[in-house]
Amino acid sequence: MGNQILTIAGLNKSFNGVKVLQEINLDVNNREIISIIGPSGSGKSTLLRCICKLECIDSGVILLNGRSIYQKDFAKKPGTKIGMVFQQFNLFPHYTVLENIARPLMTVRRIDKESAIETARTLIRKVKLENKEASFPRQLSGGQMQRVAIARALAMNPDIMLFDEPTSALDPELSGEVFQTIIDLARDGMTMIIVTHEMSFAEEISNRIVFMDHGMVIEEGNPETIFHSPEKERTLSFLKRIR
Ligand code: ADP
Ligand code: MG
Repeated sequence: MGNQILTIAGLNKSFNGVKVLQEINLDVNNREIISIIGPSGSGKSTLLRCICKLECIDSGVILLNGRSIYQKDFAKKPGTKIGMVFQQFNLFPHYTVLENIARPLMTVRRIDKESAIETARTLIRKVKLENKEASFPRQLSGGQMQRVAIARALAMNPDIMLFDEPTSALDPELSGEVFQTIIDLARDGMTMIIVTHEMSFAEEISNRIVFMDHGMVIEEGNPETIFHSPEKERTLSFLKRIR
């Protein structure tokens, strides 16, 4: 398509000599939504963590808008050009909702307090938490906490958002509000990679599904193909197992 935001080629990663990612190739186009599925331990989280530089890689290239994320002048702090949302929210417990979003803008992006608060409020509206800006994380539901985490990641104005099982820590009835937030982002044209076990959500929202097993991309394709007529036996047996 020629409008690639993210390019991953020949990526290898091991922990203590054990290969957890092997020759990963993945291109993500502008505004594309990719869901990564696969068994536990297949390397999905590690892949996302490599993309946002929370892990170093053994070999391979990761390009964002055609430039290596390892070159010197790439955003120094992880999470600025590439936003990441974790299963466990990772909010600052002693900050309010407003502070959780505004403070990193002041410290990481060096934005003055007034503008930081203004930006934070805009994002709080976007994730529909207007009446919660003075609450602390412990006063929120899991779904609300995750929406704060999403707003905080968006505050850095990232080119791409990565989600690592964003609803896995939530009670099922709270997953829907987080899915809706992600769907809203999709409508706004955000490019996203989502690791999820929620297959119906993945099928609904994604342009492409990537199936990983044992640190490798086994198969990728449109949701219709991957979920209903996958080519590879391993994809089929994984889908059978979880359904
Ligand atoms: P997934 O997210 O698909 O469940 P992970 O990326 O978390 O898989 O893990 C892939 C493999 O890498 C697993 O075997 C896991 O035990 C191992 N692994 C992940 N993180 C570390 C780490 N920090 N140190 C050692 N091994 C790790
Ligand atoms: Mg994981």
